[in-house]
Amino acid sequence: MPARIRDEAMMRLALDQAHNAAILGEVPVGAVIIREGKVLATGFNHPIGMHDPTAHAEIRAIRAAAELLGNYRLVDCELYVTLEPCAMCAGAIQHARLRRLVFGARDPKTGCAGSITDLFAETRLNHHTEVVAGVLEQACGQTLSDFFAGRRRERKARIEAEKDNAAGRAASSLEGERPALGGIEVRFEDD
Ligand SMILES: [Zn+2]
Repeated sequence: MPARIRDEAMMRLALDQAHNAAILGEVPVGAVIIREGKVLATGFNHPIGMHDPTAHAEIRAIRAAAELLGNYRLVDCELYVTLEPCAMCAGAIQHARLRRLVFGARDPKTGCAGSITDLFAETRLNHHTEVVAGVLEQACGQTLSDFFAGRRRERKARIEAEKDNAAGRAASSLEGERPALGGIEVRFEDD
């Protein structure tokens, strides 16, 4: 199978993992680790639900693969992830001795495979994982954009609902004053 076709097929699996994260309300990033063309482990971003700031998709896939192999080195393994890795994940990828990293969308805010810095091109680090960027970049980026657009819509709806509730409370407190106003009117009628 040509490398590009295999890379896209694996990135689709990583995208499925990203959708699992979105369902749980987490930023949708997914990862897959393969060895000899076969899927070894998967992971999706889950730091909020797990109360674990290190629970990024890559770290979770790396932990699962290492446990499965009974080895802290993932030699001959390749990692696919929908978003450019952050500094923590870039470090873990190199500590794990992964042979190859393939990622989808670039992350201009925390990406450390070329966007903010390139830890994979740092010659002072002793291991160098081969990096391929931009596989299914559009689909990977769209998954993130859709998620954040949905969150913005939800936030807006919540603010509108709170405004409506506040207006409702104001109206009912005015209603509460009506008997007093009525009382005044009644007194006028008595006069
Ligand atoms: Zn990360």
